[in-house]
Parts: sequence; structure tokens; C-alpha cells
Amino acid sequence: MDDCIFCKIIKGEIAANFVYQDGDFVAFKDIKPSAPVHVLIVPRKHIDSLSVATKEDQEMLGKLQILGAKIAGELGVGDSFRLSTNNGKAAGQVVFHLHYHLQGGWEK
Ligand code: 5GP
Ligand code: ZN
Repeated sequence: MDDCIFCKIIKGEIAANFVYQDGDFVAFKDIKPSAPVHVLIVPRKHIDSLSVATKEDQEMLGKLQILGAKIAGELGVGDSFRLSTNNGKAAGQVVFHLHYHLQGGWEK
């Protein structure tokens, strides 16, 4: 997707502060964090949002959940974190490339 900001980050056309990369996913710090730890976990495959993911994406989405927990651990918030996606404008989705917010680091 030529005009997709997250595709541009994945291609290296826009800089980001990466915390993880593999063949299927990238994870980078949110530019406007809303928690002490706030990273975005983004599949390399462009999918607009969760509601248009298909059965073909099932394995990848499962991997993303496990990866989210692993990255949370690596970032020191493995015991308390939120892994969430905003689906659609009314739910707060601004970037229409599927991504999961990994947020944590709040006071205990
Ligand atoms: P959404 O509201 O679509 O669920 O989340 C989009 C997130 O992407 C927001 O938290 C926003 O701060 C973040 N974001 C938007 N543009 C950029 C960018 O260019 N770089 C980074 N690192 N984060 C971005
Ligand atoms: Zn994209």
C-alpha cells in the first residue's frame, strides 16, 4: 500500500524505533505513547484492520499474541500489560494497517 504509513515504516522509508523484527512482524515504539511502555506490533502483511482479516491470517494472528507476551517480557512488563487493537474509526483506529498496541509499565 503506497500511502500507508506503517508499510513505509516496514520498508524503512520512515524511521521508527524498532524493538523487534522478524519475517512476519515488526514492533516499534509508538510516536505518542499513552503508557510508560507503548509499542505497536505490526504484521508485515498489509491488512486494513482485524475485521477484514481472513482464515488465511489465523496462524499469523495467533503468533502475534504469543509474540506480544514475549515482547512484553523483554520490555520488563510481562506480568501486567494490555495487547489490543482498535478496529474502525469509531473505535479509535487512525492507521488502517492492522496493528496491536502493547501497553504496560503502570505503577503497581
Ligand atoms: P490507532 O489509533 O490506529 O489504533 O493507533 C495508531 C497509533 O500509531 C497511534 O498510537 C499513533 O501514536 C501511532 N503512530 C502514528 N503515526 C506514527 C508514526 O509515524 N510512527 C510511530 N512510531 N507511531 C505512529
Ligand atoms: Zn500498510
